[in-house]
Amino acid sequence: MVSKDFIELEEKYGAHNYHPLPVVLAKGKGVFVWDVEGKKYFDFLSAYSAVNQGHCHPKIVAAMNEQAKVLTLTSRAFFNNCLGPYEKYITEYFGYDKVLPMNSGAEADETAIKLCRRWAYDKKGVKENDAKIIVCKDNFHGRTITIISMSSDPDSYKGFGPYTPGFIQIPYNDINALEDALKDKNVAGFLVEPIQGEAGVMVPDEGYLSKAYELCKANNVLFIADEVQTGLARTGKMLACDHENVRADILILGKALSGGTMPISAVLADDDIMLVIKPGEHGSTFGGNPVASKVAIAALQVLKDEKLSENAEKMGKLFREELMKIDSEMIELVRGKGLLNAIVIKPKDGKKAWDVCVKMKANGLLAKPTHQHIIRFAPPLVITEKQIKEAVGIIKKSINEINNSK
Ligand code: PLP
Repeated sequence: MVSKDFIELEEKYGAHNYHPLPVVLAKGKGVFVWDVEGKKYFDFLSAYSAVNQGHCHPKIVAAMNEQAKVLTLTSRAFFNNCLGPYEKYITEYFGYDKVLPMNSGAEADETAIKLCRRWAYDKKGVKENDAKIIVCKDNFHGRTITIISMSSDPDSYKGFGPYTPGFIQIPYNDINALEDALKDKNVAGFLVEPIQGEAGVMVPDEGYLSKAYELCKANNVLFIADEVQTGLARTGKMLACDHENVRADILILGKALSGGTMPISAVLADDDIMLVIKPGEHGSTFGGNPVASKVAIAALQVLKDEKLSENAEKMGKLFREELMKIDSEMIELVRGKGLLNAIVIKPKDGKKAWDVCVKMKANGLLAKPTHQHIIRFAPPLVITEKQIKEAVGIIKKSINEINNSK
């Protein structure tokens, strides 16, 4: 079978809820992936920042394989000998009292919302069912009904109502709007992405997160950081909140917590918050399973051992510098932090971000547009200086080819 055959199978038998670039991948290693015809590409998406440690990292894969041979799932009806050590490891790693393990990022966001609401009723004294959570316009927290109820993107929410109430939407990166919204005494939490990833790598002004955190503290409101995409060394620090020395009251992690090997997410908080949820009130069959526990420890250890935050910071700077040297009207803007970056594309002769991505694919680099005019660049954090330069060469060549085509 060739690429076309695999694409046809997905078209015929799969739901049409994605619009992938026409490339069929069969292998990955480090910063590279290969398609079924054997063509090699730079992966500049990293499965939306899940593959921060690089494809098929040997230590993560080994942890997975070893545990898979012994015990894969007990459910939480019983204890197992992997979860406790993992819980100790991750809470010490991030400096929280407790962790609640889940699987997908969306589930972890849902968990944070439940924790926040219950905390409002049990600790803050909000009347039951009156709690509100402030969220930001253009957020992306996943695809469940409650999460799309917080969304301002019609592609996410339109046609899926009725929606979950209890959210106040304010503009991102707007401290005054937050201050205003916090006047409502029923507000229990502020849920925010430290950098809005899906919105197109929107980096807020310096000081926004720390000011927002202070305002939350002053109003007895929980600061909830969704670091599913920004976390785990991606932006040049272990957490994007670390850039402003902000310690979230509730921290949400996912994606790279498994190095891209399986769905692993987690919510971290101190006892005062985490213990409001009692036995039987929340959970997931697979959350914290033995394989996930071993994989997450390995994935977190690799980030530290290989100094991936430091590399993301250094390579990110170089990447943006090199991108800015590309002399093309089509590049309107380069922005980002660490290795979470984007360019804003100015369409030329009807050619948009999608066409640039198709061209880059032909030249050996995979990236995906977010919205019509933005391309996110987020390679695995193990990328080297030589590889960054080579990749920028491909981006430049592709943009020039589009520029010069009729
Ligand atoms: N939160 C953020 C910030 C994300 O970027 C994403 C996915 O892109 C999610 C949550 C949802 O994660 P998942 O797709 O694993 O449910």
